[in-house]
Amino acid sequence: MSPLLELINLSVNYGGIQALQAIDIQINPGEVVTLVGANGAGKSTTLRAISRIVGVRSGKIIYAGQDITQRRASEVVKLGIAHSPEGRRVLARQTVLDNLELGAYIRSDRFGIKADMERQFQLFPRLAERRNQLAGTLSGGEQQMLAIARALMSRPQLLLLDEPSLGLAPTIVREIFSILAQLKTTGVTILLVEQNANLALQISDRAYVLEAGCITLSGNASALLGDDRVKQAYLG
Ligand code: ATP
Repeated sequence: MSPLLELINLSVNYGGIQALQAIDIQINPGEVVTLVGANGAGKSTTLRAISRIVGVRSGKIIYAGQDITQRRASEVVKLGIAHSPEGRRVLARQTVLDNLELGAYIRSDRFGIKADMERQFQLFPRLAERRNQLAGTLSGGEQQMLAIARALMSRPQLLLLDEPSLGLAPTIVREIFSILAQLKTTGVTILLVEQNANLALQISDRAYVLEAGCITLSGNASALLGDDRVKQAYLG
């Protein structure tokens, strides 16, 4: 099976700061892969490089067999990559329905869009009850759900998820992770960045550990959950 996504020798700089130093990552179709790492390790930068929000200094990004290293952000969405960024940036003054509609902006199949909205409401029942509510009046957890549902509205093959648990209460975090586990069964490939390494590894197939822009460890999620170095540094 050829990988859905390959980062080859990928480096990213912000001015003088080298945020990613020649990293290699492979993600197979249908896998859930987590990036584990401390603040500033380069996790968000990896997602931003893939969704082409930040420029690449050197190396390659290969997606579904195509070199997308020089593609624009709008082009990679059309190729099937969706990014739910850190901080759940939903449009506060628009309703839940309007936000979902926005996630489908690259599509013009009205019936398909409608059907996918209903699919999101099945996956996120809290959003179904609040479909006409302004997004800014949702709780933090509900806004995170909306950010994920909105990303799914472009029908991605690859979903990039940045810190879905950030700032949320444990019960809502568990709810979101159980939805992610459900999402995994639909076959979508997920690259997850998450501070809560314990929960993230539990729903992942594999993981990479990033330290100061370098990958220092990788392997099966179950093996990493039992790895002393990971336990000590990231599992509290
Ligand atoms: P966090 O969980 O804190 O977001 P992270 O692992 O996602 O951490 P990144 O946000 O990818 O880390 O940041 C990697 C490095 O790049 C850090 O040193 C950070 O300060 C730097 N950096 C990130 N964004 C920018 C930017 N827009 N301009 C300059 N430096 C940046």
